[in-house]
Amino acid sequence: MRRLVLLASLTVALVACAASMAAGDGILWPEPIDLLQGELSEFRVTGADVAAVEGVWGKEKIYLHADGPGQFSGILGADVDAKPVLSKLRLIAKTFTGVELRKMVSVKVKPKSFAQESFNVAPTFDRMTPETLEEIRREQAAFARVFAAPAADRWWQAPFVRPVPHEASASSFGRRRIINGTPRAPHSGMDLSAPAGTEVAATNHGKVVLAGKFFFAGGSVVLDHGGSLFTMYLHLSEIRVGEGAMVRKGDVLGLSGATGRVTGAHLHWGARLANARVDPLQLLNKISGNPQPLRRNEIRASEMEK
Ligand SMILES: [Zn+2]
Repeated sequence: MRRLVLLASLTVALVACAASMAAGDGILWPEPIDLLQGELSEFRVTGADVAAVEGVWGKEKIYLHADGPGQFSGILGADVDAKPVLSKLRLIAKTFTGVELRKMVSVKVKPKSFAQESFNVAPTFDRMTPETLEEIRREQAAFARVFAAPAADRWWQAPFVRPVPHEASASSFGRRRIINGTPRAPHSGMDLSAPAGTEVAATNHGKVVLAGKFFFAGGSVVLDHGGSLFTMYLHLSEIRVGEGAMVRKGDVLGLSGATGRVTGAHLHWGARLANARVDPLQLLNKISGNPQPLRRNEIRASEMEK
């Protein structure tokens, strides 16, 4: 009898071991990722047993979403000013039986050469009144507040579309600016040469999380596409959406203009992924995940769950 019990427990142990090995063996993890400053890379995790995957890169949570049964994709983006170093993306896959499997993926950020411009302005140009400083503080706080609370759901659906048909001004993203000999923050968006009054379209489905007028950015709309991806549309002459509204890819957000601190009419289009300022043009040609169309009522339903 004792021998039988021993045999039975040994069998259970062997079966459990085989199950966990099978779960681990069936997963296809991403290859090491190379990223240029300001660029994006889409990666995939697949495995029939996998129910969910999440990631952590530095201090940031990296969202992966299901493209189909056992197929997950996520996007990694390097900030325009990211240090060119080697780091690890930590991935955790959970199987349907509750087993957690972990993988470290190497991520190498590489330097990119950006255009540089230096110019001088009269020293008084930068002098701000207390009222202006208060406006700037309000602007920074408003943007920081929306970036701090991204929606977890993925609302966007590949492909992304251009907000205006116009081309980018040359080497606009990442341009390093030196004013009166002092390096300033790099240009964190793409300037599209749209004349004033051009309709500005949402690059993808999302939620309007900011719509207002600001000192530097002028008339501004920020969309949260979910999974820590935001896009920004600045210097608008007119805003046609309100905060809290869900918009569809191609919906008109407002009209381009020359509001805020600008020298002429254009659309400043920006993108932010997991707090990295990335080149929005990368969204157009680097992202293929979630090709299944979401219907409007599905977007509403997922929004209402919150
Ligand atoms: Zn700009």
